[in-house]
This record gives sequence, C-alpha cells and structure tokens, in this order.
Amino acid sequence: MGKIVAKFGGSSLSDAGQFKKVRDILLLDPRRVYVVPSAPGKRHDKDEKVTDLLYATHRLMQCGGDWQSVFARVEERYHAIERELALQTDLTRQLAQIRTDIAAGANADYCASRGEYLNGLLLSAYLGFTFLDPKDYIFFTAEGAYNSERTNEALSAALENVPNAVVPGFYGAMPDGSIRTFSRGGSDITGAIVARAACAEVYENWTDVSGFLMADPRLVENAKPIRNVTYRELRELSYMGATVLHEDSIFPVHRAGIPTNIRNTNHPDHIGTYITHQTEETPNPFVITGIAGRVGFSVISVEKAMMNAEKGFGRRILQAVEEMGLSFEHLPTGIDTLCVVLETACLAPLRDRVVSRIMELTSPDTITIHDDMGLIATVGRGMIHNPGTAARLFTALSRAHVNVRMIDQGSSELSILVGVDQCDFEASIRAIYHEFVK
Ligand code: ASP
Repeated sequence: MGKIVAKFGGSSLSDAGQFKKVRDILLLDPRRVYVVPSAPGKRHDKDEKVTDLLYATHRLMQCGGDWQSVFARVEERYHAIERELALQTDLTRQLAQIRTDIAAGANADYCASRGEYLNGLLLSAYLGFTFLDPKDYIFFTAEGAYNSERTNEALSAALENVPNAVVPGFYGAMPDGSIRTFSRGGSDITGAIVARAACAEVYENWTDVSGFLMADPRLVENAKPIRNVTYRELRELSYMGATVLHEDSIFPVHRAGIPTNIRNTNHPDHIGTYITHQTEETPNPFVITGIAGRVGFSVISVEKAMMNAEKGFGRRILQAVEEMGLSFEHLPTGIDTLCVVLETACLAPLRDRVVSRIMELTSPDTITIHDDMGLIATVGRGMIHNPGTAARLFTALSRAHVNVRMIDQGSSELSILVGVDQCDFEASIRAIYHEFVK
C-alpha cells in the first residue's frame, strides 16, 4: 500500500474542533500515515496565530516587556485543545520547560518552533501516532542552509521503523543541536521533506481553500479552480504572487516525482488541486492555467546607441546591481535599450547610487527609472506551440485600454509576462482572464 503524507496548516488545527476534522480525514484513507502539523492558526478573523504570539513573546522578553502575559495566551490555546479532547499528556511540564527556556534567553527560532512542537505533541497523543521531533531528523548546515541529503538519510531511516508518525512542521536543528526554523509558512517545506523521505505516493497539503484558483478571487469574481497544474507552471505562478504553498516546498517533492494535492480541511470531499510533474493524461480545459501578478516594481531603463556592439555592456549593468546587493527580477532588452526590473522597495534606498554606478560603468545616452509598475504572468502549458495565444492576450489588453509597457516571454513558452502601470493592474488581470476563460 502506498503512503500519503498529510500536512495540515494552522487554520486546520486551530482548535479541538479542527483536530477532530483532521482525525476524520485521516480515517478516510488508511494510506495517510504521516502527518505534519503547523502551529494553531486563527480561529476567527480577529484571532492571532500562535506563531505570531510566540514571536511577540520573544520580542517582549528581549526588551524587558511583559512577555509572560502573551505567553499565557499561548498556553491557554494548548490547554483548551487538551481539555476539550480529554487528552492525557505532559503539556503542563512541557510549557513550564519552554517558559524556563524563554526566561533564560532562548532565541526567536526556538520560541517560534514551539508552536509546531506542542501542536505535534497534542496531535500525536490524539491520533495515537509516534511523535518524531524534527530536531533529530531535519538538519541545517552551519551556514544555516537546509541540508537535504543528511536529512533525507536520517528521516527515511526513522520512518522505516514507524508505521504512523506526527512530524511537526517549520523547524529542524543546526549542527550544534540548536533549533532553526524555515521562513514563515515553512511547515509546507517540512511536509514536502517528509513526503520525499517516505517515498510517498502523494503529498497532501490540507489548508482552508480548495486548491488554487485561476486568478486572485479578490480581482476576478468566481475565478475557476485549477484542477491540475505542473510544478513548473506553479513555480511561475507562485513566483508572481499566487500564494497557497510555500515556494520552497515545491523542490523536494518535484525532484522525487511525488505529486502534491492541495485540499481543504473544511471541505474534504473537494478534490482540490493536483500539482504533478506532467499532466498529459489530464489536459487543461483552457489554453492558460492561471494568471498571477504583483505590483511594486521599478524599471531601470538604460539606452545607448549601438549598445549591442559593445562587449560586456549587459554584464556591467548587472555588476552595478550586484554591487548594491540587489537582485533583479527581469531583464527585457531592445536593440539599443536594456531594462532591469527590480522591486521598488529594495531599490528605493539605493536608487541614486545604482544610477551613478551604471553611468560610471557604461556611460549610457540616457538612464531613466519608471516606478509604479505591475507585472502579470499568464501561465499555461497549453500555450506551448499554440499560435495565437499572445495575440489574444494583447488584443484583450488593448480592448481594456491598457498600455503594455514591457513584454517578456521566456523560451519555454510556458508564460507571458507583461509590465503595466500599476493603475491598470487589476483591469489587466480581469481582461486576460475573461479572454481565456469563458
Ligand atoms: N507556523 C509557522 C508560520 O506561521 C509555519 C507554518 O505555519 O507553516 O509561519
């Protein structure tokens, strides 16, 4: 029998009622043997996530504030779950230990990780599954990078010996044994790591939405769900702002050829979105798979007659960007122009210095910066070798009176990227969506 790794997000485990839903989901399919929990999330709009409370606890401790009362709210969240599920655990002792550690100056990563740790302890008691503490199986290098090979070896060996396990998300250990977390939302990464180590048939990521939608529902009413998306398409969509999964959680499972299935804990009968390596078997009903975009970009445009004859011109522009510690998003070029697209927020403090360095290195005819740009990626495996897609996209934008300021299409033909003025951003997304989705 194949194995399924099921990761449950914070809203899926926010209280005892959600714990019950999780157990019911696990009971529906005996292949769901390994579970990765997040820390308890919000129970309602005005609630706070336990992870946020733990970071606040740490901050207050650092500046001599009243961290105890914030930590008391964390304690109450777990006590309520334990009480309502009538669990017999050593929660009180665990909390006392954490309190002592915080008082002794534990760092932010340790504090934040306790959210997942405690939720994992309660969940394993509730399910009767073995608790595997990621500090013993998920490793970082001394430089703080995730150590995939060492982790995979240790975790695969551990999972071989346990038929059912709960592995808390979000953290692992440094070589000296201290706790280190992934970036926010990192339980998704742990889920993918466990799926790889278990050679899982599927990595299920249970959240509070029924998968991905073809466009942001705040911009497009009744946006259709995406049933199947490839990892490459998803990479393009999430890079441009479609956020359901942590970006870094794609790599471990993609590499191992394991599909990810995004599911909704509150609607378990909904099949959600499947992310797979390839999806020939299930063709996309539309030419495009999805649209995503972000605002807040600036374009540095450098113009110089005959620049293409000048060897190293592009390199010198990028050298200036690199010297300032900036990373660029895109690099559209014309015959005598080269543009560098960067996030405005990153560029802002270094604007003048970047401009003078580019001038110094390349002596351009002109250099201008255009702010308030939005970038929109239209992504779809259906666009490959499908003539007319770009024409439809640009016709839709012109019908919506949008002036396209920049176009970038990679050779993969998997996505078309357009830059528009920020004020046209929302109208552009709607225009593209309605052109392709009828
Ligand atoms: N609890 C962590 C966070 O809020 C990790 C996660 O939920 O994935 O970022």
